[in-house]
Amino acid sequence: MTAGHVFHRSTSAIQPVATRGEGIYLFDSSGRRYIDACGGAAVSCLGHGNRAVIAAVTEQVERLEYIHTGFFTTEASEELAARIAGMSPGSLDRVWFTGSGSEAIEAALKLARQYHLERDDSGRRHVIARRLSYHGNTLGALAAGGSAWRRKPYDPLLIDVSLIDPCFHYRFAESGESPEEYGRRAAHALEQEIVRLGSETVMAFVAETVVGATAGAVPPVPGYLKRVRDICDRHGVLMILDEVMCGSGRTGTFLSCEQDGVVPDIVTLGKGLGAGYQPIGAVVCTSQVYDAVAEGSGALKHGQTYNAHPVGCAAALAVQQVISEGGLLDRVQDTGQQLAERLVARFGDHPHVGDIRGRGLLQAMELVEDRASKAPFDSALKLHQRAKEDAFSRGLLIYPSGGTVDGRSGDHILLAPPYNVTADELGAIVDLLAETVDAVL
Ligand code: PLP
Repeated sequence: MTAGHVFHRSTSAIQPVATRGEGIYLFDSSGRRYIDACGGAAVSCLGHGNRAVIAAVTEQVERLEYIHTGFFTTEASEELAARIAGMSPGSLDRVWFTGSGSEAIEAALKLARQYHLERDDSGRRHVIARRLSYHGNTLGALAAGGSAWRRKPYDPLLIDVSLIDPCFHYRFAESGESPEEYGRRAAHALEQEIVRLGSETVMAFVAETVVGATAGAVPPVPGYLKRVRDICDRHGVLMILDEVMCGSGRTGTFLSCEQDGVVPDIVTLGKGLGAGYQPIGAVVCTSQVYDAVAEGSGALKHGQTYNAHPVGCAAALAVQQVISEGGLLDRVQDTGQQLAERLVARFGDHPHVGDIRGRGLLQAMELVEDRASKAPFDSALKLHQRAKEDAFSRGLLIYPSGGTVDGRSGDHILLAPPYNVTADELGAIVDLLAETVDAVL
């Protein structure tokens, strides 16, 4: 018998062993300290080692570690659902808990399909999503995602999803097109696709409110999501917003779409919901969507062993308490602004930084070969990976992202520090990032 080893993402990489976390810092087994400026993948929104969350997790696991939702509900899941509903706009008041963001997307797609079935509208089966988006790595979520390199090896296994262009002014607007004009055109692409497919066949449109991993912190232009809402309403299509990365307070409001003045039919959460203290995701739907199921067949034809895991729910509940007691949503708006200003001050004139963008504490820089033409670097250079590795060698964790559609977009560096990041910590992040930018560009 041979000794087993972890199957790491990269089979050639030698990973240091992480042993401890404290605030914004992670430590490895050699005692080396890293500033976690991206929360892993925009997960650790309270930093590491938060005592209140650890205490809540410990209390829950000691009292009741697991129930199956086919038999019981729990105080933790009911309280968390009430809290999420209370913080969400409109009638987004029913919450289905999952173990991850990908599972939340899978459940959201199935809920959307079932909603139409319950209303005797069984012809609705098409999903429309956007290029340069990421919704997770399970097969349904991957099919809805527009990340070409992630999809490629698994293409034969994916359901058919129509992809339209994202709302990405820096890359997709025509020269001289105002954000308003561009937003109208980008939303019109959705209507055209619905009409092309036949509106009676379209079940849902799914999009990230702020595009995270693939395009690098791209918020929609003002008015775009309102137009999308209107188009979905007119054609009976459900609007699903994926806020796994940008929700749960990351942009300064509990849901990022609050800032766009829209209420989707379904929204997905993950990452910052449990802040990494436990794996947990959620699907939040309006009472209209829920009622279709409740007054129809009476059961979602979906479920998993770890739905609404009590320890995950207890962790997420404690995370929400820490956020609200610390006034952290307001603080995210403030520190997000500070981070954006620091990035602009340091890199705004850099010949290879084409765009600095984001919302709240989800900020990114796009690296370009040529600022005037916005030409991206050759993807073979893997610049975002090199930046990640260089920063790591300096003790800084940044999230590399890269995705290209027809030569548009390219390498980005994504920052997602914790909601309680301090001004000094922001300064240290930007200083180390400047060293990395100097080294790789
Ligand atoms: N949706 C978005 C917007 C994400 O950024 C991610 C993860 O990066 C997912 C879904 C998938 O979440 P998970 O990795 O927890 O399955």
